Amino acid sequence: MKKFITFNLAIAFLFSVIAPFSLAQKKDLPHVVILATGGTIAGSAESATQAGYTSGQVGIQTMIKAVPGIEKLAHVTGEQLANVGSQDMSVEIWLKLAKRINELLASKDVDGIVITHGTDTQEETAYFLNLVVKSDKPVVTTGSMRPSTALSAEGPLNLYNAVAVAANPKSRGHGVMMVMNDQIHSARAATKTNTTAVQTFKSPVHGQIGTVLYGQMEFYRKPYRLNTTGSEFSVDGVKELPRVDVVYACADMSPDLIGMLVKAGAKGIVIAGVGNGNMNAATLEAAAKAVKQGVIVVRSTRVPTGYVIRNAEVNDDKYGTVASGDLNTPKSRVLLMLALLKKRTPAEVQELFRKY
Ligand code: ASP
Repeated sequence: MKKFITFNLAIAFLFSVIAPFSLAQKKDLPHVVILATGGTIAGSAESATQAGYTSGQVGIQTMIKAVPGIEKLAHVTGEQLANVGSQDMSVEIWLKLAKRINELLASKDVDGIVITHGTDTQEETAYFLNLVVKSDKPVVTTGSMRPSTALSAEGPLNLYNAVAVAANPKSRGHGVMMVMNDQIHSARAATKTNTTAVQTFKSPVHGQIGTVLYGQMEFYRKPYRLNTTGSEFSVDGVKELPRVDVVYACADMSPDLIGMLVKAGAKGIVIAGVGNGNMNAATLEAAAKAVKQGVIVVRSTRVPTGYVIRNAEVNDDKYGTVASGDLNTPKSRVLLMLALLKKRTPAEVQELFRKY
């Protein structure tokens, strides 16, 4: 009996020591908010092996439950901001996301943000946020190539790693990051390179900025271009973005699209040019005419890697065009939309393409 009482006392003592400790530990965990927008990571199919599936079917709470151990990385809470395939990502959702992130990160109770997102346009959303988030706390996008119901779905591990990166104070000041397949990329540099492979995001010119393996991470470098707290762009009070369209260049292309877009009200046009941002003479003439009508025309490239150099094969000084540098076509469109929230000359826009 005496032994039993002593045992009970020992257990009670142990609990009195452990319980507050584990409570304190929970309180000490960083708070990461997951903002879900849909995509394949939330997609489902009828069987584990079929190629066809529907994006944006699974809710955020179910996704969190599918990640064992996530509760040890951070105090994780989730919000469903949208549930779309990212082919349907819109300016409206971008603005909603950016405003919610700024609101959350202004609170000292939130340490980092993860955004679950389809992979098709994830780089555009990430780069947009990179320019308008007003905090140096970690903001990480993630997604998956295989739907949640697939054999070897990689979404749960991607989400686990994304939360690990967002929860780690060492991740501060890296701008918006994209985490997939054990790699950490910067929003400005990464692009989708494969339609189906889990290793789809690559940063062809700059390289990945870090690695994350089962939550253990290492950074190699910080992105240099201006972002987040260093960015002059803001979405405060912004309800829509100016219209900017993309024209894809090819051999013997018709210049007609340029004139049509100007007529339709485009404020900016990004041309995914051939090679070093080139286009045939007729299109260049149409572009120069658009510039004279007040439209900003950016020369980008359809080539997956490399720079579009100002005044190389095209005389930008003469035509009034802007060279995109190594910013790819969809991200050039994002930068131009934000740039055109204010009236700017081609020279001013060129300067923005140098800085961001
Ligand atoms: N179409 C999907 C999406 O972008 C593809 C994916 O998420 O991998 O939402």
